[in-house]
Amino acid sequence: MPTSLVLERKGDLSLRDIPLDLAVGPDDVRIAVHTVGICGSDVHYYTHGKIGPFVVTAPMVLGHEAAGTVVEVGAGVRHLKVGDRVCMEPGIPNPASRAAKMGIYNVDSEVTFWATPPVHGCLTPHVVHPAAYTYKLPDHVTFAEGAMVEPFAIGMQAALRARIQPGDVGMVLGAGPIGMMTALAALAGGCAKVLVADLAQPKLDIIGAYPGIETVNIRRVPAAEAIAAATAGWGADVVFECSGAAPAVLGLPQLARPGGAVVLVGMPVDPVLMDIVGLQARELRLETVFRYANVYDRAIALIAAGKVDLKPLISATVPFANSIAAFDRAAEGRESDVKIQIEMPKA
Ligand SMILES: [Zn+2]
Repeated sequence: MPTSLVLERKGDLSLRDIPLDLAVGPDDVRIAVHTVGICGSDVHYYTHGKIGPFVVTAPMVLGHEAAGTVVEVGAGVRHLKVGDRVCMEPGIPNPASRAAKMGIYNVDSEVTFWATPPVHGCLTPHVVHPAAYTYKLPDHVTFAEGAMVEPFAIGMQAALRARIQPGDVGMVLGAGPIGMMTALAALAGGCAKVLVADLAQPKLDIIGAYPGIETVNIRRVPAAEAIAAATAGWGADVVFECSGAAPAVLGLPQLARPGGAVVLVGMPVDPVLMDIVGLQARELRLETVFRYANVYDRAIALIAAGKVDLKPLISATVPFANSIAAFDRAAEGRESDVKIQIEMPKA
C-alpha cells in the first residue's frame, strides 16, 4: 500500500512511497500521523505549483495540519512519552536566530515549514519533529480537533495582535477558514460579539450558527452599514481583514471606531491600495499577522476547556486512500466546505 501523498509537480499528485529522513535526534520525537487537514496553501501548491517565492521544483509531500501519536522519543526529551497523543507546530525556527531569541520565531528568516518547498509535509505515516514544537493533547481532545489547532493558531495570533478588551465588538471580513478561526478566537478573547462579512451565504450560515456571531452578506448590506447599525454609528473596536480582497482593504477605515485596531490577516496576491488618510483620521492601529508564535498552548487550552468548538468546521473526513479526490474537492472551493481532513491508515 502506498504511503505518502506526493505533489510530483504542479497539478500532479500521487500516492506512493518516498524516502524521508526519519532519524530521531536527542530533542526530537517520532510521531505516527493520524489526521491531517487540507489547507489552502496545500491546494495552491497543487493547482499553481508555487506561492510567492516558494516554487515546487521537486516532488514534495503535502500537509502541515497534523495530529498523531508519539512512537519514539529522543534521549533528551522530558515532556513527552511514547503513546502521547499530540499535535505539531509545522514551522521550525533556528533557535539561535535573533528573531527566535526575541520570541518572534514565526518571522525568523531561517524557519522551515512543512510542505513549503523544499520541506516535506506530513501526509506520510511517520514524521520526526522537535519535541519543543510538539504539544500533548488532553484525553478528551480528538485527533481531528488536534489537526485543527494549526489553522486556529492563526486566528489566535490575530486576536492577540488585536489586543482585544472585554466587551469589544469585532468585525471579520471574509468567511473562509481563517476568517472563521479568527472570529472564534476573537470571541474567546473577549469580544462581546463579532460580525462576519462575506459574499457567500453558505459560509455565513456555517459561522453564523455560533452564538455571538452575527453575519453580514455584503451582496445585500455593505459592511460599513452593518457595523454602523450594530454600534450606533461608532464602529468596530477591532477589524480583522481576512479576505485579501482589494476593495475590502480599501474600505477598512470606515469599519473601525476612532482609536480602534485593524488587523491584516488575509494575504492579497498582488499589492493593493490602502486609504492611509482614512486610517490616520481615526488614528487606527494597524497590525499584521504572519502565521503564529507561542499560541499552540493557548489554543489547545481553549479547545480543552470547551470555550472553542472547532468540530462543526470539519466538513469531511476522508481516508488516506481517497486523498487525491479530497484534494480535488478542496480545489473546487465549495462554499459549504470549511475543512477537509484526511485520516492516515492505522500503522
Ligand atoms: Zn494551514
